Amino acid sequence: MSEVGETDALVVNVIDIFDFNGSVIPGLSRFVSDNDILLVGNKRDILPKAVKSSKVKNWLRERAHEAGLRPVDIVLTSAHHKDDVSELMLEIEKYRHGRDVYVVGVTNVGKSTLINAIIKHATGDSDVITTSRFPGTTLDKIEIPLDDGSYIVDTPGIIHRHQMAHFVGPDDLKLVSPKKEIKPKTYQLNAGQTLFMGGLARFDYLQGDKQGMTGFFDNHLNIHRTKLDGADAFYDKHKGGLLAPPHADDLATFPKLVRKEFSIKEKSDIVFSGLGWIRVMNHGVVAAWVPEGVDVLIRKALV
Ligand code: GDP
Repeated sequence: MSEVGETDALVVNVIDIFDFNGSVIPGLSRFVSDNDILLVGNKRDILPKAVKSSKVKNWLRERAHEAGLRPVDIVLTSAHHKDDVSELMLEIEKYRHGRDVYVVGVTNVGKSTLINAIIKHATGDSDVITTSRFPGTTLDKIEIPLDDGSYIVDTPGIIHRHQMAHFVGPDDLKLVSPKKEIKPKTYQLNAGQTLFMGGLARFDYLQGDKQGMTGFFDNHLNIHRTKLDGADAFYDKHKGGLLAPPHADDLATFPKLVRKEFSIKEKSDIVFSGLGWIRVMNHGVVAAWVPEGVDVLIRKALV
């Protein structure tokens, strides 16, 4: 990271659209010093089609500013889509002004997938990372030569402890890191009802009229509705079983759920970082629970 700060370069910060907070590199603004940052919101293919790119970009810009970052621009990509990678390369060309490019990011955001796609785009070759075709290439630092003698430098992924992904076993990763476009599901809820997202998160409807609440989660995540009354005991009894993931084997290291209350004044999303969100249309008071350390926040509804 300090190497990045000492070089005049364009910094490409890859983040997971689904997990902004779990994507932030602590102190990045200090490390990059005066270098320009291009923010890449990856995994856009998971978002339902109804979500407008402009809204996602605005939201990412706000979150970036909160984290002390002033990106020159924001690009949304799916690392699996060739067209997105071509567009990203054009954006990189536009902002790098002949300089080297450093690609930075925490683990799980899709940085390796994107780097592989960039190499493929640049050379027409796949699997170059392991075959080490470029001089100076090692497994922890990959340099992709550009036409003008500059390089795209891949940096080692930084581990972010507070990601949902760290709290589930490998078989459940797909539930917190969806592979396919999400199909929203609506639940008619009365005040006094609770939704459990497996055992990973919880949503309580505390006050307000009966209304439809829409969950945007992986299509296979088990959502369980119950009464708010007794929900604590229900969780203690069923976590690792009916309420899974986490599964029984993961419970010993799974953090306790912590609660945050939100007053809804306009159409809003309650965002469970790295898992998904619930859209609330009308006024009301709700509480959201997430594993200690994971972020939960409110934003203007994306859809
Ligand atoms: P890294 O740790 O940042 O290098 O992340 P990886 O490239 O290993 O990707 C982490 C996980 O996210 C893998 O399961 C990838 O298949 C998946 N992934 C990466 N990019 C995308 C994307 O654009 N869309 C979706 N849906 N999944 C992605």
